[in-house]
Amino acid sequence: MEEKPIIAKFGGTSLKDADQVKKVIDIVKSNTRRRHIVVSAPDGITDLLYILNEGGNIDYSAETIINIISQTYSKIIGGLGIEFDLAPHIDFIKKVAWKKQEVELLASRGEYIMAKILAKALGFEFIDAARIICFNPDKTVNMEATWKRRNVLLEQTGGCVIPGFYGALPSGRIMTFSRGGTDVTGAVVSWQASAEVYEKYTDVSGLHMAHPEIVKNPNIIGVVTYKELRELSYMGANVVHEDALFPLRTKKIPMRIRKLDEPDSDGTLIVPDNDTRAIRRTPGSLVGIAGRKDFTVITLEKTRMNQQVGFLRRVCAIFEKLGINIEHIPGGIDAVSIIADTKALDKNIQRSHFARFLTDKIALPLFRLCNKKAHKWLLPFPERKINLIRRKILQDLKPGSIMVKPGMALISTVGHDMTHMPGVALKILGAIESAEINVRMVNQGSSARSIIVGVENKDLERAIRAIYKAFVDEQNRA
Ligand code: ASP
Repeated sequence: MEEKPIIAKFGGTSLKDADQVKKVIDIVKSNTRRRHIVVSAPDGITDLLYILNEGGNIDYSAETIINIISQTYSKIIGGLGIEFDLAPHIDFIKKVAWKKQEVELLASRGEYIMAKILAKALGFEFIDAARIICFNPDKTVNMEATWKRRNVLLEQTGGCVIPGFYGALPSGRIMTFSRGGTDVTGAVVSWQASAEVYEKYTDVSGLHMAHPEIVKNPNIIGVVTYKELRELSYMGANVVHEDALFPLRTKKIPMRIRKLDEPDSDGTLIVPDNDTRAIRRTPGSLVGIAGRKDFTVITLEKTRMNQQVGFLRRVCAIFEKLGINIEHIPGGIDAVSIIADTKALDKNIQRSHFARFLTDKIALPLFRLCNKKAHKWLLPFPERKINLIRRKILQDLKPGSIMVKPGMALISTVGHDMTHMPGVALKILGAIESAEINVRMVNQGSSARSIIVGVENKDLERAIRAIYKAFVDEQNRA
């Protein structure tokens, strides 16, 4: 049986000049199973292409941009010592540069040219991503159509290089992913080729256990599951494009993240939940800590709340109607707290043009003229969503009290089998307490993967450092 391929993705910093590209070539050649190579544009090129589409800016004129792009690729070609005709590609960029409607086509040329150059240097085939990645008009990947295109990859007997970041609509029009989307291309290609592993080469040694700007020299995570990584990413640890995980999960393909300069290192391995490498980890051991600021807690109290069937559903319906995502719902017997993103709650509700005209142009000025205070009673437009929520809750659910408190940060401590190990919550809370930080909320038990603690915004960094120290000091002692 043929061995499964390894898909290797190289990011912009790994392709920024000829010396880096030589390292890429060595890595690809060191294992014949690295047959499908996915590349980003050299560092900074995509930014420049977007600026070019705007006609330049105060720092870069359109001409300067075209020169930088041309020189970046020329130097790579020269440094690699290959024959490559760059001129038609630069001419093409000049041709589409100004067309606003071609912004995605233009942005995709960074990876397109890079993939062509690398294919030439490696002696591999070039496969245009437009042939294998099919988009829906809403910018999601059309997985069914994309699956059907997998033969283009599988028919390759030698190796091939595929540009990342874009694909095409059925009409052939080029469409790009959101920024950093080459990660997604690599994941989709891994899924199409049923890869053994998806390797991402970058400029860091792997995923850090905590943000390096908060914790000095944090350890690298050895093994993390897809679900654990999602919890960390949701809280702000962004090292892999979040859409990259879904195609990998469906086929249980592991992903390895390592530094270009450390090609033999283990880096970080992301695996399915039931992978033995994940299961074998010590229960209660730390995987990572991440946190986000600016949540608001809305606390309702009502006598005999616990006996009112449907109370929580009605609360949730008010949030749903306004399109507010509820993050957590910690509760007591006669009290419940709803935690949501402050930015979302602070947004004004959408009003129709007619309502806006009626209130802003007619009613409000009139009311102001007659009585300064009276306009308070006018239909409260424009209104922040949080005010409407408070009013609706008071009207519909008649709680004994309602309290709205913004300024909370949430910290997710993610680990292996956290909730089945005695003492883990104590370790987290003990560490926070020793740092003299007040805990506003604890959410434990929804998943064995994490314990979530709420603290004041201002305490977020200190709390993360305290928790990290408590776990890592103990792991070092063991
Ligand atoms: N070049 C694109 C960007 O800068 C895509 C990528 O690098 O993943 O966002």
